[in-house]
Amino acid sequence: MRPARAYIGIGSNLDDPIRQVRRAFQALNGILASGCVAQSPLYRTAPVGGPPGQPDYINAVAALDTGLTPQQLLMALRTLELAQGRTRTVRWAARTLDLDVLLYDRLTSDDPRLTLPHPRLHERAFVLYPLRDIAPNLDIPGRGPLIELLARCPPQAIVRLDSAD
Ligand code: ATP
Ligand code: CA
Ligand code: CA
Repeated sequence: MRPARAYIGIGSNLDDPIRQVRRAFQALNGILASGCVAQSPLYRTAPVGGPPGQPDYINAVAALDTGLTPQQLLMALRTLELAQGRTRTVRWAARTLDLDVLLYDRLTSDDPRLTLPHPRLHERAFVLYPLRDIAPNLDIPGRGPLIELLARCPPQAIVRLDSAD
């Protein structure tokens, strides 16, 4: 069967976030029946929501071709988060690694355990910029062209890192 194309949002703001994100790219490649087909540049972004005083985030997006179902993929991502020391405390707290399923082909789901597309993707500069780097022509089911979402996105502090950083 043809694999699905999934886009994974990656975020970290604890324990050397740049290293965490690079490690996550490698780990994504090791997911069963899956392969990473594109990696965005890294971005440094100011925290949005969550408790005050958090360090800045490093964010990126990966494109993954996968034979896993969306639920299997989410479980695999959770395993990778745990392997990189993710703990869950209060909502949107600082974390070593957060992996979200942004998109899974053009599938839509309003299941709170796995909502597709990711329910806050369209309003997050830290997702839209890296997504545009690897998939500029994407159309987000129910939301419209990525380029238009970027134009409407609320201003957020975001800086693209050089690959040498
Ligand atoms: P946000 O969802 O706003 O990015 P977060 O990533 O910090 O916040 P988590 O604590 O990592 O939130 O996850 C909360 C719940 O979101 C998880 O229990 C998971 O089942 C659910 N969830 C729903 N849709 C998705 C999705 N598309 N990708 C990842 N998790 C999802
Ligand atoms: Ca998230
Ligand atoms: Ca998450």
